[in-house]
Order: sequence, then C-alpha cells, then structure tokens
Amino acid sequence: MTNISEKLENVRQRIALAARKAGRDAAGIRLVAVSKRHSLDAIREAYDTGQLDFGENYVQEALEKIDALKIARHKDHPIRWHFIGPIQSNKTRAIAESFDWVHTLAREKIARRLNDYRPAHMAPVNVCIQVNIDKEESKSGVVPTGVLALAEFVTTLPRLRLRGLMAIPQPENGNKAFPSMHALYKEIQSEGDFPHWDTLSMGMSADLEIAIANGANIVRIGTDIFGPRET
Ligand SMILES: *Cc1c(COP(=O)(O)O)cnc(C)c1O
Repeated sequence: MTNISEKLENVRQRIALAARKAGRDAAGIRLVAVSKRHSLDAIREAYDTGQLDFGENYVQEALEKIDALKIARHKDHPIRWHFIGPIQSNKTRAIAESFDWVHTLAREKIARRLNDYRPAHMAPVNVCIQVNIDKEESKSGVVPTGVLALAEFVTTLPRLRLRGLMAIPQPENGNKAFPSMHALYKEIQSEGDFPHWDTLSMGMSADLEIAIANGANIVRIGTDIFGPRET
C-alpha cells in the first residue's frame, strides 16, 4: 500500500469508529479529500483507491486540476469537485462552470451570480451556506440569525440546490460550536421548506470525531490524507 492509500484508509477507519460511537451509519458520512496545494499525482492516487470527492480552495489551481482529470468525470465512478474556499465575485463564473458543490456561500449577490452562470447542460450546483458560528468579525460566513433569510433566497434560484450548512469552528471553540451548528441545522430544516436539505459539512483533520458526534455528514480532510501542504 502507498502512503496516501494508507492514510485514506486510516481516515476512513476514524470516520467509521466515530460513527459507531455516535450510533450512526458511517455510510451516511461523506469524506471530501481536501487536495489544495497537493499534486495531480496525489489526487490520482486517492481516486484510484476509490475516493471520489475532492475539495479545493483556490480557483485557478483547481481549474487546472479539474481540466487535467476531466476524463475521470465521465467514468462509472465520477470524480466530484467541492469548492471550499472564500468566493470572490469575479470568480463565480469559473466556479459555476466547474464545480459540483460550493460549501462557502454567504452572500445573496454570490448566490445570484452562481445561478446566472451555471451552464444549462449541468445539474444544479449543490450549495451549503457557510455559518460564522464563532461570530468572529474577521471570519467569513453568515451569522446564525442571517441563515434563514439567505436559505429562503437561495431556494428561489433554480440553478442552485440548497443542501445545508457548513462551518469551520475555531479549535478552542469546538465544544460549543459543533453542537450549536447541529442545533441550527435542525432549526432551519424545521422552519422552512427546503426539499434537498440533508448536509452538515464540518470537521477537518484535527476535529472530525467531535464533528461526527454532532451530526456532521460531510467531513473535509486534507492534512491527514495528503500530508502537510506547501506554503
Ligand atoms: C484546508 C481546509 C480543510 C482541510 O483542513 P485539514 O486540517 O488539512 O484537514 C477543510 N476545510 C476547509 C474549508 C479548508 O480550507
């Protein structure tokens, strides 16, 4: 076994164990392998072990990888690309044309642009609203009290499919933030009419266990699969 396939297997086992402890089915938890600043070869290696979901943060870097791997999109086991970085308005077209998922939606203007640019021949793009659960000034995301209004706006856009919520809690805040996200996820679900609402995207290398204990069903793991990133 290679290094990456061993690490992937190790992460999958951590997910399975965390799911079991939480009384949940691990099959309902999707692993997004975060490949930002890692090579095409590393992605290929992970794909060859059966990993299908990949997360990227930087548009230009991602587009090159998506193009180089486009054959993998049309196989029986299609690769899926998740955009998980901050969204600049002038990059919305490239994102709408190339990604299957966007986890970091936080503004109406960006939602409208993604909708306008999503090509007609593609399925609607899956989106999660990013929540600033730590309520920090400097962090991206919508404050919890703003989530319902943005969710209702997104459902008026036919080329977006609203799937749920995403967060990146500060490590020191995890014990509070993960349960708060779980509660907010359920609250929004009960307050509106969101037919595709099924996704709570949270948990990274250092905190996937606590995220899964609190209802995460997408975890986004980079370092523990691919090793440290080049800076
Ligand atoms: C980089 C990144 C990850 C992966 O982080 P690791 O600590 O390397 O697992 C997950 N989510 C987001 C939004 C990221 O930017």
